[in-house]
Amino acid sequence: MAKYWTTPAVEALRADGVRISELDTSATPGFTGDKAAGVESLAERTAVLSGLQEKLYANGRSGDKRSVLLVLQGMDTAGKGGIVRHVIGSVDPQGVDHAAFGVPTPEEKRHHYLWRIRKALPRGGQLGVFDRSHYEDVLVVRVHDLVPRSEWEPRYDEINAFEQELADEDTTVVKVAMFVSLDEQKRRLRERLERPDKYWKFNPSDIDERAYWPAYQEAYQAMLERTSTDVAPWYVIPADRKWFARLAITELLVEALETLDLDWPKAGFDIQEQLRRLEQA
Ligand code: ADP
Repeated sequence: MAKYWTTPAVEALRADGVRISELDTSATPGFTGDKAAGVESLAERTAVLSGLQEKLYANGRSGDKRSVLLVLQGMDTAGKGGIVRHVIGSVDPQGVDHAAFGVPTPEEKRHHYLWRIRKALPRGGQLGVFDRSHYEDVLVVRVHDLVPRSEWEPRYDEINAFEQELADEDTTVVKVAMFVSLDEQKRRLRERLERPDKYWKFNPSDIDERAYWPAYQEAYQAMLERTSTDVAPWYVIPADRKWFARLAITELLVEALETLDLDWPKAGFDIQEQLRRLEQA
């Protein structure tokens, strides 16, 4: 286990039994170090993640169809973008299949909600990342009554069946829900209004969404309770401390990749023969 962790991240951050309304979003479950230790640990574990991802990619190039999919959910300002930039940004971009899901386009609206998701699934050997996902269809859609209850209600079971399918196809799904407090969100939104380099992240509707916080909490709670399964469990990331969120998600990815027990792909040629040929060439 990595330094400063008392419990592996996959256990310490498991969503089972978590009440979001009572969550301490500044906590660092499972990790005993302070920020300096976290930053040091992050550097070490990022190198491990990068090595494992290279192995996954190498195996993919040799025909292995296994992949890993990181699903990122969280309210505005929770830090999803930072995870993509810093955690996913630390691995070889050739091996990353990234997709972000916003308001469905008119074409996407004509299809089943999983249509655009299926199209974006990682290929064999890839580390996929979903910045928002099919879960928006039981979050924003539920909170804003974008479709009637009779339509979103069956989606929990449907999503579980879909993720079972992914597992059957050798995609390891790592689902993380990131939470900041309402105060921390206000601080982050204010920063977006005070810094010219952050204006681009600001959306006036983010302020309106704050009024729906309790409804979102309820929707997130239902999502965790109904779609955290053995094949695709949810992890809850207290995200007021950015360094912890990054470390925790790095750790979850490392632990997921380690369970794949990856080795370098075997040579598909006779090494001695190729060395001889090379000498003569
Ligand atoms: P972000 O806010 O993550 O930077 P965007 O500006 O692209 O990214 O906005 C994403 C928006 O799209 C969010 O408000 C989200 O709730 C919304 N969205 C995502 N999926 C759906 C969906 N299936 N139905 C309705 N709205 C959605």
